[in-house]
Amino acid sequence: MSKKYVYLFNEGDASMKNLLGGKGANLAEMTNLGIPIPKGFTVTTEACNKYYDDNKVITNDVIEEIHFKIKTLEELTQKTFGGEVNPMLVSVRSGARASMPGMMDTILNLGLNDKTVVVLAKETNNERFAYDSYRRFIMMFADVVMDINKKDFEKILEEMKEVKGVHLDTELSAEDLKELVVKFKDYYKSVKGEEFPQDVNVQLIEAITAVFRSWDNPRANVYRRMNDIPSSWGTAVNVQEMVFGNKGDTSGSGVAFSRNPATGENKIFAEYLMNAQGEDVVAGIRTPSPIEKLAEQMPETYNEFISIVNTLENHYRDMQDMEFTIEEGKLFFLQTRNGKRTAQAALRIAVEMVRDGLTTKERAILMLDPKQIDTLLHPAFDQEEMKLHEVLTSGLPASPGAATGKIAFTALEAKERHEAGENVILVRQETSPEDIEGMIAAEGILTVRGGMTSHAAVVARGMGACCVAGAGELKVDETKRTMTLNGKVYSSEDYISLDGSTGNVYEGKIKTVEPEISGHFSTYMEWADEIRSLKVRTNADTPNDAEQAVKFGAEGIGLTRTEHMFFAEGRIFPMRQMIVARTEEARRTALDKLLPMQKGDFKGIYKAMAGRPVTIRFLDPPLHEFLPTHASEIEELAKELKMTVEELNNVISDLHEFNPMMGHRGCRLAVSYPEIAEMQTRAVVEAAIEVNEEMGWTIIPEIMIPLVGEINELKYVKNIVTKTADAIIKDKGAKLEYHVGTMIEIPRACVTADEIATEADFFSFGTNDLTQMTFGFSRDDAGTFLKHYYAKKVYDFDPFAKLDQEGVGQLVKMAVEKGRSVKPGLKLGVCGEHGGDPSSVEFFHNAGLDYVSCSPYRVPVARLAAAQAEVRNPRKK
Ligand code: PEP
Ligand code: MG
Repeated sequence: MSKKYVYLFNEGDASMKNLLGGKGANLAEMTNLGIPIPKGFTVTTEACNKYYDDNKVITNDVIEEIHFKIKTLEELTQKTFGGEVNPMLVSVRSGARASMPGMMDTILNLGLNDKTVVVLAKETNNERFAYDSYRRFIMMFADVVMDINKKDFEKILEEMKEVKGVHLDTELSAEDLKELVVKFKDYYKSVKGEEFPQDVNVQLIEAITAVFRSWDNPRANVYRRMNDIPSSWGTAVNVQEMVFGNKGDTSGSGVAFSRNPATGENKIFAEYLMNAQGEDVVAGIRTPSPIEKLAEQMPETYNEFISIVNTLENHYRDMQDMEFTIEEGKLFFLQTRNGKRTAQAALRIAVEMVRDGLTTKERAILMLDPKQIDTLLHPAFDQEEMKLHEVLTSGLPASPGAATGKIAFTALEAKERHEAGENVILVRQETSPEDIEGMIAAEGILTVRGGMTSHAAVVARGMGACCVAGAGELKVDETKRTMTLNGKVYSSEDYISLDGSTGNVYEGKIKTVEPEISGHFSTYMEWADEIRSLKVRTNADTPNDAEQAVKFGAEGIGLTRTEHMFFAEGRIFPMRQMIVARTEEARRTALDKLLPMQKGDFKGIYKAMAGRPVTIRFLDPPLHEFLPTHASEIEELAKELKMTVEELNNVISDLHEFNPMMGHRGCRLAVSYPEIAEMQTRAVVEAAIEVNEEMGWTIIPEIMIPLVGEINELKYVKNIVTKTADAIIKDKGAKLEYHVGTMIEIPRACVTADEIATEADFFSFGTNDLTQMTFGFSRDDAGTFLKHYYAKKVYDFDPFAKLDQEGVGQLVKMAVEKGRSVKPGLKLGVCGEHGGDPSSVEFFHNAGLDYVSCSPYRVPVARLAAAQAEVRNPRKK
């Protein structure tokens, strides 16, 4: 039997979302529940995928099936599609598995043409209504199917109103609307070079094709990437008999939420307009009335409405977003879906539904998108104001939040202007460790280059600062202090605004609103903690970050990047001294200066973590991030090192690497210069002994060796660590247990994980480097070409943001299995950026890891994602 591509509503149910899309599955479910809905059918997501497989044509077999279902619909409705008596009109709507703004939405009144409009006018005895419906259809069809700008039609409508001397659309007479239809059709012909299609079957197939096409438009692609929706899902199309809200004073249309979508209050929130079609309510042409008014106007319909809303919410056990139409007093529901809501509302609804026994904690845990949690922790733009600003350009949504300020072109400028009381956005080609103070001072950070794991992105996320990275269309001239986009030049006096949650950059100043954290947040997160088995640690390099992370629920530190500790003022200098030192003696001199700083930081971090586990990673700086670049800095450093500028320049050029990301970093540094590992061991161990003594704790520090690809590398460095540590412990007569583990971030380490595990107390997957090395593209440069990959659908996602489960993920799994095969209790974690990405967290849960570690602001996101993973795939006995 050949495959079925079209389903009548009574042939499906809510479980068939993948095939029928969200809207189609819910329409089927509502049919089964006996809710009054206009009859119709769904063309499946598989038909959409087939359309793409067949080079973007709907093949005849599918078209025939659609025609066959149209016939059935004619029988069910006792109407005729394109008929000269009782003509059937339909709506055509897209409906993907997950609701997706950015795709084609709705075409109403399809089936009208020059003949059916006359019949409709006669049969309804309402000429005005018929021509009003026709002119709407022409405009919608032209706009969404033929890509003719809707505004052109609106302009023609406005001109007509002016000529007729009226203000409202409803004041135009039937004759006026007839005239308008002619004008619309003429305009259509002038743009398309052909008549507006009169064959209703052509209209239908064109409309369905437009829905399929819209699945691949750039807006939809961007939305999908941001929301983890693969392009392979496809969209379904729903074709449904029209009911009319614009048939006069006993008709109307509205939208309803079963609870308030902004606050979550348990009160139906609905609005409607009499004598209008649904689009009028949404477009805000007239001000809609609150639903309470319907109780006075049509009490019976109102009661039925309330009862259906309650039935639907109880049935779906979640807040519903519905559309309804009243046609001459008869109520129809056109769709229902789980309603979009603010994060605050989502929390309140989830918590109250559990309290009222409407759902379980486990189901409530699945009600929030973990990414929504983020919006609770960061400022956001005032939604109304944001609508008034156009998107200038966009980059990667590197760190969430909203920021507005004047442009600063250097870190120093950002710092000084911030101190003078200005709000600034730091705009850089890319950032480097030297920019740290400017990054702290700025409201937000915008870079031209760099990806999701670039310096700017990682540091901004750590600080909870808003950042848009890799906005490649911008030209930044630091010397002239200008930023240019499409020929327009912006200076340090211009305001820009960044949305770090979408990657959008806006011109001008947009008001931001601070997040509000309610009591529901802690109740909800407690449930998440009760449920999950995967632990959540944080990546933190300073006591401040660590404290913040503990407030967000971090259960330990999974990664302290010790090189980041040297970004602050006064510290980068000895760090550079250490890097450019050409003799062991010179290096030891610099290391002696670094030791007390590092030890002090570790003590601060241990204390902030109050006895929770702390993993400290040994030095792993890509050298280029630390080398001085400006002549003045080179001069200063040369003076301090008692070298000539030329000598220092020679050293710097000796240190130049063609690919620093794959260069002399990680354990390779300790192999070359063991004294670095010695100093760091001393700092870790002495700090732990002192804090344990002061606080009466028993901290067990975890020392982590980066970039190991070969067991001998680990053995070599571990030997330095244990020798140094044991000598200090003995010398001080102290008791201290410590662990030495390794990062697994090189493919070779995954492949040889069974050997490496024999020397390691724990593994932590560095999925940033593992992604870089597995794909073979540089973390810092991939952003520039990956955008072509997305546009051409070679990749759906940024593998630095969302774990590539089929490739990198398989290496992780292999290392887990090999590691535990020799050491069953081997502790396993992940500390790459993926540790804060919900779908990746689920993968790590399923792979059997003990913990994920992510930047402080993502800790709550990871806690919820871990709980959701547990609900979907329980690990707890
Ligand atoms: C990693 O590679 O995933 C990691 C956590 O280390 P870094 O980002 O510092 O290289
Ligand atoms: Mg790494």
